[in-house]
Amino acid sequence: MKKYVRKAVLDLKAYEVNDAVYSIKLDANEGIDWYDGLNRYPDNQAVKLIKALSSVTGKKENELIVGNGSSELIELILKTFLEPQEYVVSIDPTFSMYKIFTTIYNGKYKGYKLVDNQYCDTEDFIKFIGKTKAKIVIISNPNNPTGSFIEKESIEKILEGSDAIVVIDEAYIEFAKGSVIDLINKYENLIVLRTFSKAYAVAGIRLGYLAANESIVKYIKRVKSPYNLNAISQEIGLKALENIEGVNKNIKLIKEEREKVWKVLDKLGLNPIPSYANFILFQGEDKLNDYLESFGILVREFEGDLKGYIRLTVGTREENDKVIEKIRRYCDEKCKN
Ligand code: PMP
Repeated sequence: MKKYVRKAVLDLKAYEVNDAVYSIKLDANEGIDWYDGLNRYPDNQAVKLIKALSSVTGKKENELIVGNGSSELIELILKTFLEPQEYVVSIDPTFSMYKIFTTIYNGKYKGYKLVDNQYCDTEDFIKFIGKTKAKIVIISNPNNPTGSFIEKESIEKILEGSDAIVVIDEAYIEFAKGSVIDLINKYENLIVLRTFSKAYAVAGIRLGYLAANESIVKYIKRVKSPYNLNAISQEIGLKALENIEGVNKNIKLIKEEREKVWKVLDKLGLNPIPSYANFILFQGEDKLNDYLESFGILVREFEGDLKGYIRLTVGTREENDKVIEKIRRYCDEKCKN
């Protein structure tokens, strides 16, 4: 494990917060309370939330870190492991922040092209990782923006075949199957990322977590800012975990809606990619995006290799029905012309 860690981090001591029980607390230059105890810094270790996550995931408390969205955790991983000029490798197309963060941390980035924007040739990808001498491999699984999925057996092959930190970003895993979180004790180079922004539907609190074996977690904690997760997010995060029935109900609804929307897009000849996430990528007609926007409907369009594609989030039944109706109407009108 140690061999992957940046030199600066090997010698670094994590900032220490005094968690002792107190009757008077005058050690942290905090102000005088006027709003529900928010004058205090939050729990640096997010103990309650980590305990709850530990029981939900079955992972030990010292195998988990919470962050200000999984975005912060991606950054912490790069800060821990990536020296300037070293490579981060991913699939292509994928979540654009991987490349942006790599650039910010002075790394180099290479994407491995998916066949038809959905299939990953595992053996060839492993060769690509080896040739690039990647320090970090990061895979969004299911993949944003394609919605495609790499099976667990293939992820295991990638873990076995590459001498790198392998990050599996499971932001959308609740809409699929086959998490690899149970493999963190089998592979010392595996990090799994999760978020509360999608299936848990609390993007507003900016909460994510990572699971990895204890030695990885120990190093990442060295580069984490103290008190990185604010008190309100810690509290609402606990509520979101308690709301598991509501979360499961929404996941079921989104999966049903996803199939419905997918079939319509397919019938309209818009070539939707089979999706394992809460969105669908399809080949939008020329001006479909502008047409939808004229009704105040926002979807995601792309530049470069994905020019002409649209990523549509699966929303509520009513929202989906309205969008479908507009897309149908657009296609009908276009066929007439
Ligand atoms: N990973 C992937 C694959 C994502 O699509 C996103 C958000 N779009 C994130 C990470 C970031 O999520 P968060 O809100 O937890 O920062």
